[in-house]
Amino acid sequence: MNEPKICRLCGGNAFLPVIDFGEAPLVNSLLTKEECGTEKTYPLLVEQCQKCFLVQIVNPVDSRKIYQDQDYLYYTGDMPQNSQYMRAFNSLVDDIQNNYTKAGDLIVEIGSNDGTILRRFTNRRVLGIDPAINVVVRALMRGVPTLSTGFDKQSARNIAEEYGLAQVIGGANCLAHIDNIHGVLEGVEALLDTYGVFWAECNYWGGMVSSKHYALIYHDHYSYYTLKNWVDLLNRHNMYIFDAMITEAQGEGLSLRLYASKDARRTKTQRFQDLLHKEEVSNLNSHETAKKYREDVIMEAEKLGTLVKKLAAEGKIIAGYGAAAKGFSILHLAKITGEHIKFFVDDSPAKQGKYTPVTHIPVFARKDIQNPDYFFLTAPNYKDIILEKETAYRNTSGKFITSDSEIIS
Ligand SMILES: [Zn+2]
Repeated sequence: MNEPKICRLCGGNAFLPVIDFGEAPLVNSLLTKEECGTEKTYPLLVEQCQKCFLVQIVNPVDSRKIYQDQDYLYYTGDMPQNSQYMRAFNSLVDDIQNNYTKAGDLIVEIGSNDGTILRRFTNRRVLGIDPAINVVVRALMRGVPTLSTGFDKQSARNIAEEYGLAQVIGGANCLAHIDNIHGVLEGVEALLDTYGVFWAECNYWGGMVSSKHYALIYHDHYSYYTLKNWVDLLNRHNMYIFDAMITEAQGEGLSLRLYASKDARRTKTQRFQDLLHKEEVSNLNSHETAKKYREDVIMEAEKLGTLVKKLAAEGKIIAGYGAAAKGFSILHLAKITGEHIKFFVDDSPAKQGKYTPVTHIPVFARKDIQNPDYFFLTAPNYKDIILEKETAYRNTSGKFITSDSEIIS
């Protein structure tokens, strides 16, 4: 304990707090009945480096605790294919397929999960890399070559020897989970072809600030990057961003995608320069902005907690829709417990019959439960799909509560 605090990006050692969730459970693991009461909690403190302004969990819980000792229940392929999350990746796949590769080129994805993105490429060699064994098994069963390993300089060299250099390397929503980001980028440097393209898609601190969003804060999100953070980070590894944009993957401006190359002369797009400029004029990379963020989200959480507790006190039955990590972070900060939320529904069979950590709220299949008075919507990015799917429920006076305390009937 009391390890020295060193910034993951720049090596700086001066930090200021952003938000403290206190002791919180690991949210990607649901419990069996027998496991209830035995789960551990860990401090969840988000801080900001005062040199490079990366918002981060400085000394995170060992990721092996998350990915190996526990069942990691998240499969990309379980997401609705027509969701905005999956739709957001159409442009990525098109870009890589049509603009950045030709037949026979190698495309490597870090944190490839069950191979959902890689299997969409045609006439390209693909290779997935993911440390979580259960998702790798699923990817292999779907015919996507995948290695169950971490990614660093050594594994990159091994891959290069076996497969040759990659023309495209990237990762979606996995880079926030990585403590030793420099190790990963050294691997990218070693495996990427001179004119190859590195892409990343991850949660965006700028969107969290502008939409007062805190559901993405949990133990396995170590870093909350701005575009400027990425520019600094990649420059240290001789890569230069030439394109960046906000995608609709997480909704609310929460998802940043960028493309980088080792070739510094590559033309930089206007949208990349505009986004960087917007960060400057809005003072995003500063502690003033982080402090304002904390005030905003604490107010949001209090508002939601007050609303849910008031409805529960009136005898209304409230259930959670989607037993997702994001939802548990919201409940935690809003101090909403099993007293207020009676059960969760979730489409994933792996989650049904289990219980939420600490609050021990049971998770059922939607078809197995009686309609509650209200559903609390844990995943705002699926709002439209869920509201459409639940037309019959809404027609019989069922209502939804969103994380920003809106009631939808
Ligand atoms: Zn730093």
